[in-house]
Amino acid sequence: MKDETEADLSGATPRRRPKPDVVELGGRPLKPATLMMGHGYDPMLSEGALKPPIFLTSTFVFENAAAGKRHFEGVTGKRPGGAEGLVYSRFNGPNQEILEDRLGVWEDAEDALTFSSGMAAIATVLLALVKPGDIIVHSAPLYAATETLIGKILGRFGVHWLDFPAGASREEIDAVLGRAQAEGRVALIYLESPANPTNALVDVEAVKASRDALFGTGPDAPPIAIDNTFLGPLWQKPLRHGADLVLYSLTKYAGGHSDLVAGGAVGSKAAIAPIRAMRNTIGTITDPHSAWMLLRSLETLELRMSRAGENAAKVCAYLRDHPKVETVGYLGFLEEGSRQADIYRRHCTGAGSTFSLYLKGGEKESFAFLDALKIAKLAVSLGGTETLASAPAAMTHLSVPDERKLALGITDNLVRISIGVEDADDLVADMEQALKAV
Ligand SMILES: *Cc1c(COP(=O)(O)O)cnc(C)c1O
Repeated sequence: MKDETEADLSGATPRRRPKPDVVELGGRPLKPATLMMGHGYDPMLSEGALKPPIFLTSTFVFENAAAGKRHFEGVTGKRPGGAEGLVYSRFNGPNQEILEDRLGVWEDAEDALTFSSGMAAIATVLLALVKPGDIIVHSAPLYAATETLIGKILGRFGVHWLDFPAGASREEIDAVLGRAQAEGRVALIYLESPANPTNALVDVEAVKASRDALFGTGPDAPPIAIDNTFLGPLWQKPLRHGADLVLYSLTKYAGGHSDLVAGGAVGSKAAIAPIRAMRNTIGTITDPHSAWMLLRSLETLELRMSRAGENAAKVCAYLRDHPKVETVGYLGFLEEGSRQADIYRRHCTGAGSTFSLYLKGGEKESFAFLDALKIAKLAVSLGGTETLASAPAAMTHLSVPDERKLALGITDNLVRISIGVEDADDLVADMEQALKAV
């Protein structure tokens, strides 16, 4: 939480300064799990409240007219660096600033923004970076709404796209980027890894090497943005592998309780600046209440994700050997020596808790399994404390043309499962009894 209150030198009411944040001890930087409890918040600025209050206000009072002018110079970009204090709740608020400080910690990011949904984050980034005639190069497949936004909605404004498959090699990426470069201005390279629902990983290091080789590293090179919803911020930190902007649906693992919708973006100050300016203009910022809920969620992020990851490993180990199961598409089971396993080794520190279960049979079998589950809930979404299961072919991807569904491995016997933090043995027992009903 930024605060620029100064001791009043006239000798009138002394004003409080925020207490400096403790971010290291004895030269050792504190870990994110520790920083989530207090980073960016000084209780003494809020009547000593241990937890930040929810600041339900639409606007903020300026100390004096000159301070107001200075703030607006920051907001409008007349002066670089953004606003130094709080101005108006479409631009920012205390809850959102604390949240942004803490979200950035997980990836050692210089700057961070939060949004009213994951799609609001993605839409704001796209609106900030593309103009008519531009080309977006993206990995495929993408989250369905992202694909709609790039293909259909931005298409109406004369923006074009080219894609490469998520698992593409350096040569394949070079070929697509080279073709895009020959066709027009490449505004953005947009990635999603792992891809939904295939779980295919994108080689971010190869994308960066390809971008740098073709476009150089100057300010005109297209930035690399990546949707890190499935493994971030714990198991994959793409800023370290060459991404410029990392995007989140905070609705999923970061929120983690299936009780809010929000989005995030982290990156360098330079990468975030145009996104912040667009968010200031269109008002896609998260609300104070959701921001407060997310602060609570981040305190247990590592605990929740670690437990969900351990549970998923146990459940997948059970499912893999079951006679009614065809295969389990889980990042923990990548074939030794394969290209995907190599990308995983270089980019990821955990296999996540969302995977694809292919049953022997078709829709009849997958529906029988879903209907028989007693602990896992039948719902779309992922990353919550509770285990969820759904049938993508009949639900999230119902409107995808059959040919494309097949190419993506979205078959009628596919069940998508997001494992939660319940007891692992109970979850295995639930899978066992549901498979009996198949
Ligand atoms: C859910 C999701 C989104 C969209 O996020 P919302 O918070 O629902 O707007 C984007 N990308 C991925 C990978 C997602 O899973």
